[in-house]
Amino acid sequence: MEAAPATGRTSLPTRILLGMVIGAALGVTLNILYAPSIGAPASQAWLNVLWIADNIANPVGQLFLRLLFMVVVPVVFCSLFLGVAGLGSVEKLGRLGGRTLLWFLLTTTGAALLALFLVGLIEPGKQISPEGLERVKEAYLGAAQERIAQGSQSKSMIDTLLEIVPKNVVAAAADNGAVLGLICFALLLGAAATRMPMERTKTLREALETIYELCVKVLGWAMQLAPYGVCGLIFTATSKLGFDVMKLVAWYFATAMGGLFLWQFVAITLLAKVFAGISVRRFYSGCRTLLVTAFSTSSSNATMPTTIRTAVEEFGAPKEIAGFVIPLGATMNMNGTALFEGVSVLFLAQVSGVELGISQQLVVLAMAVLTAIGAAGVPGGSLPLLAVVLTQVGVPAEMMALILGVDRLVDMTRTVPNVTSDLVCSLWLARREGVKLKD
Ligand code: ASP
Repeated sequence: MEAAPATGRTSLPTRILLGMVIGAALGVTLNILYAPSIGAPASQAWLNVLWIADNIANPVGQLFLRLLFMVVVPVVFCSLFLGVAGLGSVEKLGRLGGRTLLWFLLTTTGAALLALFLVGLIEPGKQISPEGLERVKEAYLGAAQERIAQGSQSKSMIDTLLEIVPKNVVAAAADNGAVLGLICFALLLGAAATRMPMERTKTLREALETIYELCVKVLGWAMQLAPYGVCGLIFTATSKLGFDVMKLVAWYFATAMGGLFLWQFVAITLLAKVFAGISVRRFYSGCRTLLVTAFSTSSSNATMPTTIRTAVEEFGAPKEIAGFVIPLGATMNMNGTALFEGVSVLFLAQVSGVELGISQQLVVLAMAVLTAIGAAGVPGGSLPLLAVVLTQVGVPAEMMALILGVDRLVDMTRTVPNVTSDLVCSLWLARREGVKLKD
């Protein structure tokens, strides 16, 4: 799988941030200047602002969002099928393969659990006045509010579990709220493929790999639209809602970034110490280039060569171990992404007023882990899959618009633990194989 197109890779983050700043500054200024106070009649200038928001800014933003949503079904199906079907060869690698997968699963689940804990503790989606919340809901949800009201809260544990197995997989793929069914189908089909000689499934696997890569290309194009899309979305939000919405987004941003920092600087550092026997200072002095590369490219795939180089040259891991664990991890092991998805889904559920009981939170946890495994290691790779988790728990995917303005920074930050977790895994396995790592 390839990283996002090289063109503009350096300038794209800056352009997206610029889009966000311009959209927010314009929106807030127009809101302050022209928004009528409650009960007062709307001026012509205010009506013009609303017209621009609804007819220009929002459609551009929606176009960007739709491009992300468009690739959901093929990405989910191909990545999960290929992931499981490929396990046939991992099995053959014996201990190394088993331990690698265990590491991926446990660290990703740990990161998603931290997300659940933090959002439950901080409640970023509730840090707004009741009137402000009403206006946010009105602007973002509109007609979807009804859908939420009859939506997931009423689902029992049994229903949620039953829904995992679809009666009709085509209907499940077509029904925005039933992607769990598609996930189940892809996993089962992948498992069936491991029970067949690799030769028999080769053509299918190659075809699905190509579809997956094509979707990643389309996603790369969508990301080129991101500066305008983000500008349009944030303008629409801030012009209609003023500072209220900025405050809400700031709480989300602080929670997500706080979680990612905790995971990177506490959890990963501890894992490096305990499992690979590397001190904090040694770990970070060896990782400097890696951290900068992951942060600036926002892509686990683009960072992969640096991750391998760091493992081998800085820490002395054998090439074979690093060469096996790290490419697999770049596609499958995304601690930061799982944490981000957990925080985003629970935050948006809080804003939408969707109450998630324990069973629904467990669904979020499992889906954050699964979709982090399925996400492509490119900038914004997890955004289409975030939409999947949102719809699954009854939060309209359109709500994503609320957090996209700050996603670039969150994406850069979440890519760091995505790659350092792969690095520590390879160092742990090297140490277990009796290799003496460089001090
Ligand atoms: N940018 C992330 C990575 O490459 C994926 C994502 O969470 O969007 O690791």
